Amino acid sequence: MTTTDTHCPYCALQCGMRLAPGAAGEPPRITGREEFPVNRGALCGKGQSAAALLAPAARLTEPLVRDAAGGLRPATWSEALDRTAEAMRRAAETYGPDAAGVFGGGGLTNEKAYLLGKFARVALGSAAIDYNGRFCMSSAAAASRAAFGLDRGLPFPLADIPRTGCVILVGSNPAETMPPAVRHLRELRENGGTLIVVDPRRTRTAELADLHLQPLPGTDLALALGLLHLVVADGHVDEEFVAARTTGFEAARATAMAHWPERVEALTGVPVPAQREAVRLFTARPHGMVLTARGPEQQSKGTATVGAWIDLCLATGRAGRPYSGYGCLTGQGNGQGGREHGQKADQLPGYRSLEDPADRAAVAAVWGVDPGHLPRSGTSAYELLDRAGRPGGVRTLLVMGSNPVVSAPDAGHVTRRLQTLDHLVVCDFVLSETARLADVVLPVAQWAEETGTLTNLEGRVLLRRAALAPPPGVRTDLHVLHALAARLGHPHGFPEDAEEVFTELRRATAGAPADYAGISYDRLTGEPGLHWPCPDPGHPGTPRLFLDRFAHPDGRARFAAPTHRPCAEEPDSAYPTRLTTGRTVHHYQSGAQTRRVAALTAADPGPYVELHPELADTLGAGDGDLLLVTSRRGAATAPARLTKAIRPDTVFMPFHWPGEGRANSLTHAALDPVSRMPEFKVCAVRVEKAPPAGEARP
Ligand code: SF4
Repeated sequence: MTTTDTHCPYCALQCGMRLAPGAAGEPPRITGREEFPVNRGALCGKGQSAAALLAPAARLTEPLVRDAAGGLRPATWSEALDRTAEAMRRAAETYGPDAAGVFGGGGLTNEKAYLLGKFARVALGSAAIDYNGRFCMSSAAAASRAAFGLDRGLPFPLADIPRTGCVILVGSNPAETMPPAVRHLRELRENGGTLIVVDPRRTRTAELADLHLQPLPGTDLALALGLLHLVVADGHVDEEFVAARTTGFEAARATAMAHWPERVEALTGVPVPAQREAVRLFTARPHGMVLTARGPEQQSKGTATVGAWIDLCLATGRAGRPYSGYGCLTGQGNGQGGREHGQKADQLPGYRSLEDPADRAAVAAVWGVDPGHLPRSGTSAYELLDRAGRPGGVRTLLVMGSNPVVSAPDAGHVTRRLQTLDHLVVCDFVLSETARLADVVLPVAQWAEETGTLTNLEGRVLLRRAALAPPPGVRTDLHVLHALAARLGHPHGFPEDAEEVFTELRRATAGAPADYAGISYDRLTGEPGLHWPCPDPGHPGTPRLFLDRFAHPDGRARFAAPTHRPCAEEPDSAYPTRLTTGRTVHHYQSGAQTRRVAALTAADPGPYVELHPELADTLGAGDGDLLLVTSRRGAATAPARLTKAIRPDTVFMPFHWPGEGRANSLTHAALDPVSRMPEFKVCAVRVEKAPPAGEARP
């Protein structure tokens, strides 16, 4: 291998790193790149240790197929691909084209996301495609589209944060999920700005804040309405901005006025003085930002909740101006690009719509097919999994870049649905929990072994170049799509070469909302990326959106004016405690990668239940005692971790682990009506001390 400038394989920050040959027998060395403006040389432990999984010993290096005895045995690529193509063909012939489907991931490169969408619609002719990004930020995307006419995680670079006046961080814990981003928050405070953190837990990020608001999980919509109430009541509405650049404020004002401070305190638990202090800090200086993450988004009212926080920005004139605005801190490595290029059930590349005749015609022309032959919109990720194996659902499923057995809501149910499939094929570089269920497992290359582009949370398109060859026996995801398409009668149109795919993606997105037409591998080489939209090769890219106008046809932003409503499952006498879930600093998503890195598992070896000492007292539980957590969907056991950082009415579990400690055995798949995002962030549970080994559970 040669020393290569690249980017981290994990989260949406896409920290710049340099990969260099390691000493004999050692993995490649990783160092942070000072010149990349997002992380400026800093890396978290996940990024620093990312090379550990490149060694062949840590991964799959040959295809596996299920044998007659029910086990997985090694196979040739030809056998594995033939079996999969035959299963896809058989499903389509027997049950119709939508019986063969694909399930993608928010970590896939733009090229893979694009080709996966084309594979589903053209090679399979199937509407059955969605991806795990639906679980991740789709409520923020839906709310942004409704408010601004366009969804891009951050409409400004992260480096703008130190230059604003106040940041409200809602349901986000970057000190653990993306530590290098915290320097921007520190610099904000060094510049005299303030930080407000809204989180049911006093997280490491909350420790840094000037003000921490600790609402009951699932009530941050009410909190946003309460803050807007105070903005109106105290005369902080930017009437000029509202009149010139927005529509719908009167409805938002009316809704907010029904959420007076005492009512909001009763709903959220946030004291009235703290609400007032938040509004004072947010309006004290002329600029401000609200940044949300999974807390407000992963709710059955996630779109409405994010809409309420956007309304706060619009009412105070903190949007569409330099150093002000609303943004979503996207989670997965290509969480942004992965949601732009056709993996979503209703979407074509460049944020085009499958239901728009002009969009269908534009993409069909690039793909060389009749627009009438493109399927219509399919169902969302959870619905696709929930219907697997049922009449009208998929019978054969290709999973690429995802591990839903650990990461899906109500994961026990999802696992059972996957087990009913006629054929499950999983592309992965390790034998993930989902791969263990598969009929065919295809060993694929990793980030450092293949070239591709990713779009980070700022809408910055980056080129990640291959630094070394994959181990013998391993092929790329693009090869898999190429080879399957050929077997399904499409020998052309599915290139294996990433740059060739990207060139086609540029044409397919030309003139679309997420316009990549002017971005090329040549322009990305040696540069810190280009922000879309970038419509032609001479265009400098667009780091800041909405400064002149919002993306709706009339140029105005829309108030959402939502009303508060309860969670899909409120606590009751049988399940009296709220569960909320999230990530830890040492692990990433389902943990399929990070649980295999010795340094990370040593630092963070397993699941736990975080609870307040007051709640522990009522259970008679001490620190480290094994707890049994039960919901209406399943049960999980994990040791207690006592902390006063969490509300006494709430417990927290990280979701990185499978098995007995799987947090998603408990979570609720109630879906947001707009984004179809599940309510990962809150459900009702019963917590008790686990019975001693050998004794039956109650
Ligand atoms: Fe990688 Fe994210 Fe850590 Fe940066 S913050 S090193 S992108 S995991």
